[in-house]
Amino acid sequence: MTDKYQLDTLAVRAGIERSQFGEHSEALYLTSSFVFKSAAQAAERFAEREQGPIYSRFTNPTVKVFEERLAALEGAECCIATASGMSAILSTVMGLLKAGDHVVVSQSVFGATIQLFVAILGRFGVESTFVSATDVSAWQRAVKPNTRLFLLETPSNPLTEISDIAALAAVAKRAGVLLAVDNCFCTPVLQKPLDLGADIVIHSATKYLDGQGRVLGGAVLGKRDVIRQGVLGFLRTAGPTLSAFNAWVILKGLETLKLRVEAQSAAALQLARWLEQQPQVERVYYPGLPSHPQHELAMRQQRNGGGIVSFVVKGGKNAAWNVVDNTRLISITANLGDTKTTITHPATTTHGRITQEARDAAGVSDGLLRVGVGLEALDDLRADLLRGISRSA
Ligand SMILES: *Cc1c(COP(=O)(O)O)cnc(C)c1O
Repeated sequence: MTDKYQLDTLAVRAGIERSQFGEHSEALYLTSSFVFKSAAQAAERFAEREQGPIYSRFTNPTVKVFEERLAALEGAECCIATASGMSAILSTVMGLLKAGDHVVVSQSVFGATIQLFVAILGRFGVESTFVSATDVSAWQRAVKPNTRLFLLETPSNPLTEISDIAALAAVAKRAGVLLAVDNCFCTPVLQKPLDLGADIVIHSATKYLDGQGRVLGGAVLGKRDVIRQGVLGFLRTAGPTLSAFNAWVILKGLETLKLRVEAQSAAALQLARWLEQQPQVERVYYPGLPSHPQHELAMRQQRNGGGIVSFVVKGGKNAAWNVVDNTRLISITANLGDTKTTITHPATTTHGRITQEARDAAGVSDGLLRVGVGLEALDDLRADLLRGISRSA
């Protein structure tokens, strides 16, 4: 099916396997285990000589439909669903690395990802080096004989820095290292890392894939041998599994993914252009604007600039908090990728626990705000932001 149809079609049709009842919508299999006809069949299933579900820690038909559909959208041979985006990253590392291995990580990845590498994986002997998301030669220089994995996120959060996936894939290939891309911000609608040479795609399905702020979920995608042996091997034993219910919710989210992401991106571009015109706004970070330092790369690599806009208001923290506190419509919450527009002050929330020095290095200034654009009317969003912006500075 994957070869024949376009993304729009795959998003609503891929992976469906109907039961004997011929249900039209995907069935939700809320069951922890599956019944065998005989002792002999149980033995065949466990020995993997017969295909079929065994136990929902590693084989649930609803989860399987989600995995096949997302694999079709990313153009991946194989997909393993996980309980959350963080457990997707953990499963990748635990499935593919061992003590003594080294990982190169973009310094602009999600805060919890940095914590995972520094505070947890370090204790188990996996060493990591953090480098600039945008400096390809820094990745090259960071490679050591024991380097096994590159991990990046593009566009980055909250500054929307763009990493050159194809260039980094070439560096990784020459070094014999796997390249993993967290495709959370773009989704396969805007960017397909595997087509650009990446080996692994990671998702937090909690964001755009569900897209309605309901459930947590994640996924790891790539070549069958990498994903099945490594990542599935870890998941079926350790159990950070996506629940069937959450898989079903996200599966329904995938059906409208393209419509949502395109509408949210179009609104984000309009909002970014408008913010650039506001005298109280010092700087706007949005890959779709010609003023963005990697605008050309972004437009080559992504279908558009995406749904996240960050901007700096004049007047530092007080001015930024004033914008947040004067909203009546936009949700003050750290989530993103929702139909409801969200606003965050990174310096005192997502980046609040790191030192001032680290925040400066990451470019997270006190006046910075991040907006995850939803599906409300653009005029209403502009009015909601303007109330605070016009009072700041
Ligand atoms: C939210 C997020 C994660 C973590 O996902 P959870 O589902 O919250 O565990 C990882 N990467 C990025 C880019 C994210 O935005």
